[in-house]
Amino acid sequence: MKKDLYAVAAAPPLGHVPPKMHAFTVRKDRFGPPAESFRLEVVETPEVGDDEVLVYVMAAGVNYNNVWASLGLPVDVITARQKAGEKEDFHVGGSDASGIVYKVGKDVAWPREGDEVVIHCGMWSRDCPIVKAGDPMYSPTFKIWGYESNWGSFAQFTKVQAHQCMPRPKHLTWEASAAYTLVGATAYRMLLGWEPNRLKRDDVVLVWGGAGGLGSMAIQIAKANRATPVAVVSSKDKYQYCSDLGAKGCINRNDFEHWGMLPHWKDTVGYGNWLKGVRKFGKAIWDVVGDKRSPNLVFEHPGETTIPTSIFTCETGGMVVICAGTTGYNATVDLRYLWMRQKRLQGSHFANDEQSQGMNNLVLEGRVDPCLSRAFQFMEIPLAHQLMYENKHPHGNMAVLVGAPEFGLGISDRAGGHRQVVVPTRSVPPPPVAPASGPALPYGDDAIDGEALPGGRAVLDTTPVGAIMERRVITCVRDSKVEEIVHLLGARGVHAVVVVDEKDVPLGVVSRTDLVLARQGRSPEAARGLRAAQVMTKGVVTCTPDTALDDAVTLMTKNHLHRLVVMDRDRHAAKMVGILSMSDVIEATLGLRED
Ligand code: NAP
Repeated sequence: MKKDLYAVAAAPPLGHVPPKMHAFTVRKDRFGPPAESFRLEVVETPEVGDDEVLVYVMAAGVNYNNVWASLGLPVDVITARQKAGEKEDFHVGGSDASGIVYKVGKDVAWPREGDEVVIHCGMWSRDCPIVKAGDPMYSPTFKIWGYESNWGSFAQFTKVQAHQCMPRPKHLTWEASAAYTLVGATAYRMLLGWEPNRLKRDDVVLVWGGAGGLGSMAIQIAKANRATPVAVVSSKDKYQYCSDLGAKGCINRNDFEHWGMLPHWKDTVGYGNWLKGVRKFGKAIWDVVGDKRSPNLVFEHPGETTIPTSIFTCETGGMVVICAGTTGYNATVDLRYLWMRQKRLQGSHFANDEQSQGMNNLVLEGRVDPCLSRAFQFMEIPLAHQLMYENKHPHGNMAVLVGAPEFGLGISDRAGGHRQVVVPTRSVPPPPVAPASGPALPYGDDAIDGEALPGGRAVLDTTPVGAIMERRVITCVRDSKVEEIVHLLGARGVHAVVVVDEKDVPLGVVSRTDLVLARQGRSPEAARGLRAAQVMTKGVVTCTPDTALDDAVTLMTKNHLHRLVVMDRDRHAAKMVGILSMSDVIEATLGLRED
C-alpha cells in the first residue's frame, strides 16, 4: 500500500514519490556546531522541473561545505536563497550521493526511472548564454548542489538537474559510490582542465595532503595518466597509504620549518632562512623522483602556508593549481620566480559535466578508488559533520547510509576491479625537526638566487628580544569598551593594548588600525560602544625573551604585524612578560626613537 511517508530505509515502490520525506535540516535559529545544528525533520518532497530528476538517496557523501552551512558562516545559505526568491526557511544539505532515479522531468532523455546513479554537485541554468557557449563553470548561475542549492542528499529524496547524474559503479557499495564525486571531479579539473598545463605522461606532480580527500584522488588520477605523483603528508604512517594509491614517494612536511607567509624580501636574514628551507624541500622532491626534476604541476589547497613553496619548487613553465585556502587566503609569491621562470598560478573550482564524467569513468574502470574511510548510519549525519568540524575525522572520504538499510550493499558487478586501500588512522604529528645545516643545497642555485639576497651576505642581529622589549604591557579585557581603550592608549602613550582573559592569557590585540576599522559603517556613538572582543585582531603572535631580534623581525614582517607579545620560557604555563614593537626595533637597530 502506498504511503504518504516511509520510514528511513524502507523504500517506496519504484516510481511512487510520497508527498513527505525524512530529512536532516539546518535552520537559522540553530546555526552553530553541526551536532546542534542538524536535526531530523519531516518536510515536503520537492517537485521536479522539466530538466530535473528526483533521486531516492541510498547513501550520501560528507564534505566540509555542510559544516559551513551548519555554522551559517561565512555565508548564511538560507538567507541567500530566500533573497533569490526561494521560500524554504531550512537547508537540506549534502553534495555527494548514490541512489535510484524515481521521477524525471519532461525534457530529460537520460537517466530514466530505475537507473542507479551517482551525482556530481555542479548546477547551472541551461538558459545561461555562458553555459550554452562552453564551460558552465564560468556561468554566474553556477551553484554547488546541496550547499548553495537546497534539497541535497541528506534526505530520502534529492532534487538534481539531469546532467548531474552519472552511471553508478556497480562494483562498489552504495556508501563507497557516494563518497568520491565532489573531490574526484575537483581533482580531475585541476590536473586535466588547464591547457597547456594539462597533466602529461611522466610529469612530476606535487600533491599536498596526499592522504586527504582531494589528495587521495589527485594521486590516483595522476597515476592513471602515467605521471609521477609525489605526496606531501604530515606523518610517516601515511606513506604506505599514499604509495598504495600510486605515489612515487612521500615527504613529511614536519621535517621542514619554513612554512607560512613569505618573509619580506628586504628581510635578508628571514628570507635567507626561508630559502634554505625551501631548497631543502625541493631537494626532497628530487630525492623522491630519483632525478633533478621539479614538479610540472603542483596540486594546491592548503594555501597561505604552502603557496610560497609551491611557486618556488614548480618547474619552469609549470603550473600551481589551487582550489582552496584551508590555512588562509593571503598568497605571498616571490614574483621573480614567477616571471623569470614563466610559471602559472591557476585557480580552479569544481568541474563541468565532461570533467566529472572523465573522473567517473576512471572509477567505473576500477582505476580510481573512492578511498572511503568511514561510513555512518543516517542518524549519525550530525556526528560525521561534528568530527569534521573538530578535525577528528579519518583521512580519505566519509559517507552516510540513507536509503541503504545496511553497510556493504549495492555490489552487483564484482569484476569492476575495486582496489581496497587501507586508510591510516589519524596520528599526532611528530615534533618539527630542526633543518639540517651544511653546505648550500644545489636546488635552485642560479642567477635568480643572486637577486634573492640583495646586498650580499646578511649580518645577523642576535640581540635577544628580552634586552629591548617593553616590560610594561598595557592590557584590557574582552568587555572593555572602545571608548575606554582610546583613553587608555592616550593616557599611556602606546599604540595598542593586549586583550587578556581572566587568567591573563592574551587573546588578541586592539591596535589603532583596529579602532579606525571599527568606525567603518558605524556611527561614532555605535563604534565607541563596541567591546574589545568585537574589534580586536584575534590571536597573538608570540616570541620569548631569548628570541633573536632578526627572527622576531621576520615574525613581524611575515605576519604583517607591528608588535609581538613576549611570553616567558615555560610554554605550558606561559606568562606574558613584555611586548616588542617595531618602534623598539627601530630604536635598537638604528639608535633612533620613532615618534
Ligand atoms: P581533507 O580530507 O581534510 O584533506 C586536507 C589535507 O590537507 C589534510 O589531509 C592534511 O594532510 C593537509 N593539510 C592540513 N593542514 C596543512 C598545512 N598546514 N600544510 C599542508 N597541508 C596541510 O580535505 P579535502 O577534502 O582534501 O579538502 C581540502 C580543501 O579543499 C578544503 O578546504 C575543501 O573545502 C576544499 N575543496 C574545494 C573544492 C573546490 O571545488 N573549490 C572542492 C573540494 C574541496 P597532512 O596533514 O597529511 O599534510
